[in-house]
Amino acid sequence: MIIIKQTKALKNYIIHSRSTGATIGFVPTMGALHNGHLELIRRSKANSGLTVCSIFVNPTQFNDPKDFEKYPITIENDIDLLEQQGCDVLFLPDVAAIYPQGMQHLPHYELGFLETILEGKYRPGHFQGVCQVVHRLLNAVQPDHLYMGQKDYQQCMVIKKLIELEKLPVAMIVVPTVRETDGLAMSSRNMRLSAAERKKAVQISATLQFIKREIKPGELETLRQRCQHYLTAEGFRPDYVAIADADTLHAVDDWDGKQQLVALIAAYLNEVRLIDNMLLQ
Ligand code: AMP
Repeated sequence: MIIIKQTKALKNYIIHSRSTGATIGFVPTMGALHNGHLELIRRSKANSGLTVCSIFVNPTQFNDPKDFEKYPITIENDIDLLEQQGCDVLFLPDVAAIYPQGMQHLPHYELGFLETILEGKYRPGHFQGVCQVVHRLLNAVQPDHLYMGQKDYQQCMVIKKLIELEKLPVAMIVVPTVRETDGLAMSSRNMRLSAAERKKAVQISATLQFIKREIKPGELETLRQRCQHYLTAEGFRPDYVAIADADTLHAVDDWDGKQQLVALIAAYLNEVRLIDNMLLQ
């Protein structure tokens, strides 16, 4: 695996690879890699001649400075894991390489409704930051395929919108969430959980499973509230427990039994904010 830190060098390398006929798969990450990230790498390896992974903890997408400061950094281990998976290129830029003109006056993306709900509501500015960095990374890598995790369901929808808005020539592939054996969605933030918190954290995916099992056509508010109260009683501070249309993320209060739904949860366990989601059919 080669490690590239400068955008210009990356672009040159990509141009060279393309000239040999390789298709390019791209996996953007913030590092602290786990098996969820590696699944994206494996998918890319299976489909593309050249797999590029980026590791960049993007300051503009953190609405909470404490979360940014505490974001885990495990770069030596990340490099080992990527080598083991046969990743071809690690793009490892610093802030100046991504934002050479600084982080003021960055473009604004018209994300509309998507930015006003769920993660957008509880993390103001987060998706603008995500678009700012992903747009720059896509311009640098120019991949054929972009691999994103379903774990960040709303983020996938935002990036789909970014691709449409900017008419980017890339196909996005959404990879199902990789879970621990007890059901907890793998996340870099799980490293910040104490042993007791880690044990408790499973309640989030268990609650999604419960919704999936219990949901019936008709009104959904009782089930939704019951789950929110349950998590609160278990010691979580939920930002939301939502049941929404899987294509639009509009909340669904009355279900006809046919509409494709997704359940989504974001909740704090002490200092650590966890998110997860599950398709309900
Ligand atoms: P992050 O480093 O958290 O920004 O994640 C980088 C990419 O990995 C994003 O597309 C995430 O959705 C994806 N990802 C994170 N956790 C998982 C998981 N447990 N399963 C599948 N993909 C994941």
